[in-house]
Amino acid sequence: MSIARFWRETPRRYNLGGSRCTQCGTVYFPPRAVCPNCTHHRQSIEKMVPFQLSGSGEVFSYTVVHEAAEGFEMQVPYVVALVRTEEGPILTGQVVDVDPAEVRIGLKVRATFRKLREEGRAGVIHYGYKFAPAEESAPVRSPGPSATAVPGVPAAPDRAST
Ligand SMILES: [Zn+2]
Repeated sequence: MSIARFWRETPRRYNLGGSRCTQCGTVYFPPRAVCPNCTHHRQSIEKMVPFQLSGSGEVFSYTVVHEAAEGFEMQVPYVVALVRTEEGPILTGQVVDVDPAEVRIGLKVRATFRKLREEGRAGVIHYGYKFAPAEESAPVRSPGPSATAVPGVPAAPDRAST
């Protein structure tokens, strides 16, 4: 990606600014000028409004990368995931702050802004979003009892057959 293109895209890469169709409510990231969901596309042209994604979502699919792309040598293995955001759009990004072995489908994550890569001799540093586990789903290390009641599933019978 050229430097010029990078900077042009920087604002939305930083703030996850998308767009939302006020006709049907669908959210798009990157933002779109027309909603492909609405049958009368032209009607949606005037109905697209800027929309700020929260950055919260969950892992929809992921892959563990063992062979680094140029510029990522220090980071292998790393996880690249498709994250389905709360608002709907699916984003691609690296998952950080978690052991690759602990990443799983359904893991709650949150966008965080990090250095993506450093560009060779020019020393240009690119920033963008990555994903880190959301606090509430961070791996629990304590081995304490975590038996949660499952509705509809009866507890072990006390009155064993006699
Ligand atoms: Zn629409």
